[in-house]
Amino acid sequence: MSTLINNELVYTVKDRCRVCYTCVRECPVKAIKIINGQAEVISARCIGCGNCTKVCSQKAKVFVDTSQKVFEFLKNEQKTVACLAPSFPAEFYDIPYKKLIGMIKQLGFDYVVDVSFGADMVTLKYQQYMKEHPTNRTISSDCPAIVYYIRHYHPELVPSLTPICSPMVATSRIVREKYGSNVRVVFIGPCIAKKAESNEVDQIITFKELRNIFEQAYITPETCQEAEFDPPVGGKASIFPVTRGKLYTMNKSDDICEENIIVASGKTHFREAIKEFEEGLNKSQHLELLCCEGCIMGPGMTESNKLYTKTTFIRNYVREKLSRLNKYEWEQAIKTYEKLDFSQHFNPADRRIPKPSNDAIENILHRMGKTKPEDHLNCGACGYDTCTEHAIAILEGLAESEMCLPYTIEKLHNSIKELNLSNEKLANAQLSLKQSEKLATMGQLSAGIAHELNNPLGIITMYSHILKEEIPPDDPIQKDLSIIVEQAERCKKIVGGLLNFARKNQVNLVETDLVKFSEHTIQSIIIPDNIRVNIVSKMKNPLVYIDNEQWMQVMTNIEKNAIEAMPNGGILTIQLSDTEHEVEIYICDTGMGISKENLEKIYTPFFTTKPIGKGTGLGLSLVYGIVKMHHGQIICESNDNPQKGPTGTCFKIRIPRNIKFNSYKSYSYEKYES
Ligand code: ADP
Ligand code: MG
Repeated sequence: MSTLINNELVYTVKDRCRVCYTCVRECPVKAIKIINGQAEVISARCIGCGNCTKVCSQKAKVFVDTSQKVFEFLKNEQKTVACLAPSFPAEFYDIPYKKLIGMIKQLGFDYVVDVSFGADMVTLKYQQYMKEHPTNRTISSDCPAIVYYIRHYHPELVPSLTPICSPMVATSRIVREKYGSNVRVVFIGPCIAKKAESNEVDQIITFKELRNIFEQAYITPETCQEAEFDPPVGGKASIFPVTRGKLYTMNKSDDICEENIIVASGKTHFREAIKEFEEGLNKSQHLELLCCEGCIMGPGMTESNKLYTKTTFIRNYVREKLSRLNKYEWEQAIKTYEKLDFSQHFNPADRRIPKPSNDAIENILHRMGKTKPEDHLNCGACGYDTCTEHAIAILEGLAESEMCLPYTIEKLHNSIKELNLSNEKLANAQLSLKQSEKLATMGQLSAGIAHELNNPLGIITMYSHILKEEIPPDDPIQKDLSIIVEQAERCKKIVGGLLNFARKNQVNLVETDLVKFSEHTIQSIIIPDNIRVNIVSKMKNPLVYIDNEQWMQVMTNIEKNAIEAMPNGGILTIQLSDTEHEVEIYICDTGMGISKENLEKIYTPFFTTKPIGKGTGLGLSLVYGIVKMHHGQIICESNDNPQKGPTGTCFKIRIPRNIKFNSYKSYSYEKYES
């Protein structure tokens, strides 16, 4: 047997492969592995059926081209015989057969012999064998892909292979007998697997390659003389390349009532037939198998479809040929070569991979999200018939999980979700940045104004007080002066707030018990009777590094806002929780809530919805700045629509438990935001 099968009979042109898994699906022995998203043929597993070359729309699967070697043969002095497979009328329907023989001869072949004579001989031998061994259960052995399939994947059935050579090998033996043992024999046919079938034949090319050779040698029917086949001339077996052709030649049929023969062709049927034969379900005496749906559908044909048109071409050719066959001559030829040895021995060559354990298969299936029977969609998108077969192929290193479409789609969805989440985070960060920029600018402006205003305000207050003391208490001007003092005090409060906000602050981090601290913040504000305060601590470790003075401002500002949002009473909840590195503070109320449009503005300096004299709009911008200075985050969730559920607002603050003091100590608003 030739070893060509291990030397890449079929291979992938990587640039062309678009990884559609069609070849995986069509490969009857799963000899194609997907590695890093590329489909690669495993020569050791390949049976040379060439299905992948037929189905690949990108022409990424190609078979080895041996036409150059034939050219070299023809340059040589040695006599060369072309053995033409009986399927040729299905390929060269556009060229009259005598012209075709003339063209082959013009290439330099000394003889052109019809392989159907070899097929006639093989038929005779099958008939004799089946008669002599009526109890033997046999499998036909003339299709090399079937022979490889049995040797590799059902080695126990090798003894069932009929020990008779193929028509190609038979023809080669006859040709050498007739034209001399040193002639070079080139087989021309529709099959790729033949290229590796036997080293009794010197070279094998396909019809496709022959057409290319004609083109390269500028040989056309017009440039050639007609010629006839060289003897011996074939007879009835010209019908061989059609499914059931051999049975017809043997005068047998697979009629259920008449014969004990099962015929199966094509990649699904031949495997089923072998499986049932092996299991003993099928008790037939003989399995007549072809890997393709007849040799006329072989991968070496230029057109891969049109089964029925091709069948018609063969039928017409055979009918015409038999009408002019010199039966006497043919019988004489049969008698001449009948004594030759047409036997063939086959060896098992087990290529089966041991099946992985059920646990390992389950693990892989779990990894692909297939935990329940209904998760096994068996959709076949990966190229394997079932999810379990796909899992086994993954374990055998032939496939990847990404080939599972539902799994990949889910992964894609998750990636999109993650992407959306990071987009959202990015948008939030952008918003914060904008807010911080605004605060920084406002801070500088406010600091300047506040500084300028403080002095005149002090003077107004001071002189108003002096005047108040100098004027008798019952003077009507006293009332006016009191208003001046009161309003000046209010101005000072606003200016104080501005200064607080704009101060080039430094944080003075101190280890603090946050639970006690929160209780203390509540004590420093006035809580109306109709408001209940809940402090809930879920902290495992209450100790946190914060600037106490600033943090007091954060909490009291939020708490005061909450109280003001609940004029008719309600509940103010402070909830504290922590992880090893972070602390979370929720300050929530059951107040009127904040409208969606206002929610975007609450951290903007001077934004207030409170009446004049009540709010300055500086509280939350101050809070925001301080939280950021503590490397923290603040978010506000609120509902102001009673139809959507209970109204109220919740400020959620998260800060690290301990910011490294030195790296942080001197940060100002502007600096830390950059
Ligand atoms: P001020 O309290 O001086 O108005 P803030 O900066 O503290 O300024 O608050 C800005 C605005 O945010 C408030 O005027 C109010 O509209 C809204 N706000 C803040 N906290 C709450 C809350 N807990 N419930 C409802 N609205 C709130
Ligand atoms: Mg406020």
